[in-house]
Amino acid sequence: MNRFDAAADAQLKFNTNEDVKVVSRFDKMGLKEDLLRGIFAYNFERPSAIQQRAILPIRRGRDVIAQAQSGTGKTATFSIGILQSIETNVRETQAIVLSPTRELATQTQSVLLALGDYMNLQCHACIGGNKLGTDIRKLDHGTHVVTGTPGRVFDMLKRRHLRTRHLKMLVLDEADELLNRGFKDQVYDIYRHLPPGVQVVVLSATLPQDVLDITSKFMTDPVKILVKRDEITLEGIKQFFVAVEKEEWKFDTLCDLYDTLTITQAVIFCNTRRKVNWLTDRMREANFTVSSMHGDMPQRERDAIMQEFRQGSSRVLITTDIWARGIDVQQVSLVINYDLPPSRENYIHRIGRSGRFGRKGVAINFVRSEDVQALRDIEQYYSTQIDEMPMNVTDML
Ligand code: ADP
Repeated sequence: MNRFDAAADAQLKFNTNEDVKVVSRFDKMGLKEDLLRGIFAYNFERPSAIQQRAILPIRRGRDVIAQAQSGTGKTATFSIGILQSIETNVRETQAIVLSPTRELATQTQSVLLALGDYMNLQCHACIGGNKLGTDIRKLDHGTHVVTGTPGRVFDMLKRRHLRTRHLKMLVLDEADELLNRGFKDQVYDIYRHLPPGVQVVVLSATLPQDVLDITSKFMTDPVKILVKRDEITLEGIKQFFVAVEKEEWKFDTLCDLYDTLTITQAVIFCNTRRKVNWLTDRMREANFTVSSMHGDMPQRERDAIMQEFRQGSSRVLITTDIWARGIDVQQVSLVINYDLPPSRENYIHRIGRSGRFGRKGVAINFVRSEDVQALRDIEQYYSTQIDEMPMNVTDML
């Protein structure tokens, strides 16, 4: 199943600001025995390119900026770094991982718990939408790692339920999103509550220069592992467009593609919550089975939809950019941009929901006449190729 072979891995090129040692085996990284057991029990055999480079400097306590293509194992990179550095006999929060969405924070919690399965790890997700009382109870009782979204994490810090005396590490996953306008102030507020000298690790598939510039405000002499812009897209994800000309013709185009969508699993991106609702209603009226998710839904409904989609009992998900980043469902092999994304960073993240860890993926962009230029801009910016969708697209899934 996993075709992420050594050859493909070796082709990934990085830019580093110092000589970064490449360690090609987990058992040569000096990791704790119980952590190593967790890694192998999770069926990881060998580290991916970013894991080979970034785990060691994180382990050594350096601030690290780690960029790597979508689906190449950044979560395990920082998770292994965290698990190596925490002491489980100290039942205090030692690491905080911030994520831009609740679903991603929950997913990260699961990965940490799985990798830390033999370590007696306590890891709690502090996310909006859940009961405050649960967070307070868990934190008061003591937890080693907190994953969460900035709002709730800050709330818990302010109320002093999240104690920071033993805190060693702050991880900003999807860092460019967290340092974006919407989140930036909250992230700074959190940072100011942490002990001075806290180790900071930032990761994303996209780290534009302005974000790299901001990191100098809260990072000390970081090890930088970066990817050039023309290396960010993955060979394994084929990108196409369908010239729909007008907005009105997108719907029929999608219906025509429905059989293709259900071959494995597919995610359809729209730019607004309203559009997600509208498209979902229309697809259902036309007797197509689809599920949908966006940030206006109650958390319980969001959780149920995530669970169904992860289990594969729903196969087609219509959603917003809430799903653009980080979410890992290996069965997704097709991404449709019903609307082109408003940011070129999210283009990379959206198409990266397919083709996880070396699997095949296809991204199809619906372009109206007025979108043609924007698509060409994306193509040029990432030096990638977006061809007209061929007849045999299903063969590529
Ligand atoms: P990223 O954060 O870089 O987008 P993830 O950390 O979500 O990617 O990893 C993508 C997928 O690859 C996940 O399903 C994860 O379990 C798997 N994966 C990560 N590292 C390894 C590894 N060393 N061996 C096998 N699978 C891995």
